[in-house]
Amino acid sequence: MSETLKNFIGGQWVLPKKARLLEDRNPATGQLLARFPASAPIDAQTAIAAAKSAFPAWRATPAPKRGEILRKASQILEKRKEDLAQSLTREMGKVLVEARGDVQEAVDIGYYMAAEGRRQFGQTVPSELAHKFMMTVREPLGVVSLITPWNFPIAIPSWKMTAALILGNTVVLKPAEDTPICAARYVEVLEEAGIPPGVVNLILGQGATLGKTLVTHPDVSAISFTGSTATGKLINSQAAPLLKRVTLEMGGKNAILVMEDADLDLALDGIVWSAFGTSGQRCTAASRLIVHKKILAEVERRLVARAQKLRLGNGLDAKTDVGPVVNGQQLVRIHRYVQIGLKKDKARLLCGGSIARSGKLAQGFFYQPTVFTNVAPSMAIAQEEIFGPVVAILPVGSLEEAVEVANGTRYGLSSSIYTRDVNRAFYALRRLEAGLVYVNAGTIGAEVSTPFGGVKETGNGHREAGQAALDFFGEWKSIFIDYSGRLQRAQID
Ligand code: ADP
Repeated sequence: MSETLKNFIGGQWVLPKKARLLEDRNPATGQLLARFPASAPIDAQTAIAAAKSAFPAWRATPAPKRGEILRKASQILEKRKEDLAQSLTREMGKVLVEARGDVQEAVDIGYYMAAEGRRQFGQTVPSELAHKFMMTVREPLGVVSLITPWNFPIAIPSWKMTAALILGNTVVLKPAEDTPICAARYVEVLEEAGIPPGVVNLILGQGATLGKTLVTHPDVSAISFTGSTATGKLINSQAAPLLKRVTLEMGGKNAILVMEDADLDLALDGIVWSAFGTSGQRCTAASRLIVHKKILAEVERRLVARAQKLRLGNGLDAKTDVGPVVNGQQLVRIHRYVQIGLKKDKARLLCGGSIARSGKLAQGFFYQPTVFTNVAPSMAIAQEEIFGPVVAILPVGSLEEAVEVANGTRYGLSSSIYTRDVNRAFYALRRLEAGLVYVNAGTIGAEVSTPFGGVKETGNGHREAGQAALDFFGEWKSIFIDYSGRLQRAQID
C-alpha cells in the first residue's frame, strides 16, 4: 500500500487543502510508492512564514546547542542507514551500495557541521589605532530556500540543510518531484533529533509552481539550488533584481584524460565507475574520455568489454551493477542524445545505444551502457549534459591538446587525469577549468570537508560543503571596539 506524504510546516505534518496528489513511482518496477501533494504558492508562503517566525529563537540558540541537534540527527541516520538506503534505491533507482553512500554523506556532513557549532571561527585582526580591538563573527541570513534535485536525494538536502542550520538560518526545503520520500524521511530525522517547530519546513510539489514564491518572496534571504543550468539561470534572473543571495550548482560535462603512460587497469576501474555509476546521473559523472591516440584502441576494447559485462537491474538486487534512470522523460532524453550522436554527429557507436527492454527491465527505465568513439569536441554528445550511462571518447595527440579539449565546454565541475608522470599531472591540474580535479582517480569522490562546486556554467562562484559552505549561508559582521576613551579616526590619525 502506498502512503500519502505531507508537507512539514511549523512543526506539523499537513496536507494542503484541496491539493491535487502526484504519484511517486519506483523507476525499476513502476510500482507506486507514494502520493504527495502538488502544493500551491500559498503553501510555500505559509512555510516561509513559519520559518520567519522561528528565526529569532533559532538564531539566539547557542551554536553548540544547534550542533547537538545535528549530531543527534546524524546518529539517527546512522542507525537507520540501511532502511533509508533501501527506500532511496526504491525511489530513484541507484544501486544499494551507492544509496548507502548517499545516506553516509548526510551522516558525515551532519557531524562536520555539528562540530562547526563549536568553531565557526571569526578573526581577530590588529587595528592601526591604539586601544582599538577588531574582530569578525558570522551572522545568519534569515530564511533560506533549498531547492534540490533527485540524484542525491538525501545527501544534497543534507549538505545545504546542515550548513544553513548551524549558522542559525531557518529553512524551507523543496525537494525534486521524483524523490519526495527521501526528503520526508530526512526531515523526520531532523524532527526526531529535536529541531524546533518552524526551523525546518518541507514543501512538496512542482518546482515550476512553487519556484517563484520560494525565490522571490520578500522574507526569503537566500536560495540554494542544485539542478539543471536552465532552471538555475531562471532562478538567478528572478533573484538578481531583488538582490537575493543565490548559490547554483548546475550541469557538468566532466572529462577523464587518459595519457599514454597511464596505468590502464586503474584508469578502466575509474572510468567504469565514473561513467556508469548511478547510471551516469551524477553531476560529476564522466561523460567524456579524452584518450591519447597511442592507447586509444586498447582503451576502446577494454572499456567495451567492461561496459558489456555490466548487469542492469533493480538496484536492490546485489548482483546489479547499473540501476534504472530516474524516469521515462530522462530515458527518452538520453535516447534522443544517442540518436543525435549516431545520425547527426556521426560518431562511432561501440556498444549500447538502446533502451533495455528484456524481461523485467521492460517494467522500468533502463538504458544500455553506451560508448561512442571518434567523437569530435564540437559534437553535441561532447558538449551537452546527457545525464545517463553514455560516454564519448575523444582521441587526442598530446597532453596539451587533451587539456584544451577538456576545457572546451561551457561547464566546469569535475575533471581527472590518469598519468604516472608527476609533471604531467601538475600541468593538467593547474590548467583544467573545473572546481574539482582528480589525479589517478575518476571524476567522482568528493568528500564533505572540501569545497564542492564548479566554474563557468556549472556554478555562480559559491561552493558547498566544508568551510566554504559557511561563507554562503552566513554574513560576515566586522566589530570594532574602541577602548581609548577618545575619538580616534582610522586612516587619518
Ligand atoms: P533536473 O533536470 O535535475 O530535474 P531541474 O532544474 O528541473 O533539474 O530540477 C531541480 C530542482 O529544481 C527540482 O526540485 C525542481 O522541482 C526545481 N525546479 C524546477 N523548475 C523550477 C523553477 N522554475 N523554479 C524553481 N525551482 C524549480
